[in-house]
Amino acid sequence: MMQTWLVTGGAGFIGGNFVLDAVASGVRVVNLDALTYAGNRDTLSALEGNPNHVFVHGDIGDHALVARLLAEHRPQAIVNFAAESHVDRSIDGPAAFVQTNVVGTFQLLEAARAHFKGLDAAGQAAFRFLHVSTDEVYGSLGDEGKFTEETPYAPNSPYSASKAASDHLVRAYHHTYGLPVLTTNCSNNYGPFQFPEKLIPLVILKALAGEPLPVYGDGRNVRDWLYVKDHCAAIRRVLEAGRVGETYNVGGDAERQNIEVVKTLCALLDARRPRADGLPRESQITFVKDRPGHDRRYAIDASKLQNELGWRPTVSFEQGMAATVDWYLAHEAWVKRVLDGSYRLERIGQEA
Ligand code: NAD
Repeated sequence: MMQTWLVTGGAGFIGGNFVLDAVASGVRVVNLDALTYAGNRDTLSALEGNPNHVFVHGDIGDHALVARLLAEHRPQAIVNFAAESHVDRSIDGPAAFVQTNVVGTFQLLEAARAHFKGLDAAGQAAFRFLHVSTDEVYGSLGDEGKFTEETPYAPNSPYSASKAASDHLVRAYHHTYGLPVLTTNCSNNYGPFQFPEKLIPLVILKALAGEPLPVYGDGRNVRDWLYVKDHCAAIRRVLEAGRVGETYNVGGDAERQNIEVVKTLCALLDARRPRADGLPRESQITFVKDRPGHDRRYAIDASKLQNELGWRPTVSFEQGMAATVDWYLAHEAWVKRVLDGSYRLERIGQEA
């Protein structure tokens, strides 16, 4: 029987990639997205007219709407991507992060709990609530060690604190109400359709425009990078076979200093589209004042997901970075509409 999933935040970067893959594999997706600045329906244009994709413009915090969607579409799973996701924005304005990531997730859980209660035994056995979260909830590492699922939470930014709070609510809904939840905590993603406020697309577009490439502090902060398609595959694997109530760390085993990431992008762009004056794009790098509370290093131990569920990243850092550069070079129309703001002006509307 065809599966139906309620995916939230599916007009965003990771959610959009996930929805495209899910529909292509024969899943029917009801896609609930509030279309904040980060939501972009252009990302979903390949699904226009596809009866297996139902787009709904709305908020995860709208209990009545979510209850109606659950009653009408009877999904086997809810996959929650919807969030405010940018650390710098959370420093400038944390309120939206508490509203969506904490209150919104709470409302979504409440609607899921009521729906779950009304299912028959077979429906309950098949139902899953998968919450997509971040490794940033674990705080910052020194030079050694990696985050495991047992690492105590120690969030340092309003973003990571709001995600940590949502993770705790999800956990509590399992332990208190028996909701069949799963949580994934993933490292930094990159790839097609990422909004250019995040490091990799920001650097690609500024490098092409001949603008300064801002690097925080000394550039030696370390992140683990995962190609977005590998993250989407991990979420699918956890949804299919993860043990209810468990948390799974997802990572790419690709730790890099920020400065290395920026230099890699510069070299890829120089090889594909050299600057008119022939200068290397590394010359555009400018160090800027560090982000307050900037975590030094994140690294993920994904062995639980690898050993229990057999997931592995399939795209190396080098392959993924090259594919991402090529994607941005080949999708000038998507980029242009993001940069001039026109992606927000059209196609906002409810269809379900
Ligand atoms: P994104 O900012 O690109 O997309 C978020 C989407 O959620 C947007 O489409 C936005 O319109 C939607 N949204 C925001 N508030 C909403 C609300 N109240 N109701 C409904 N929709 C709403 O984010 P992303 O990078 O795709 O991240 C998706 C999820 O994955 C987030 O939960 C994030 O915390 C998590 N995550 C991201 C990364 C990463 O590197 N980007 C890594 C690990 C985990």
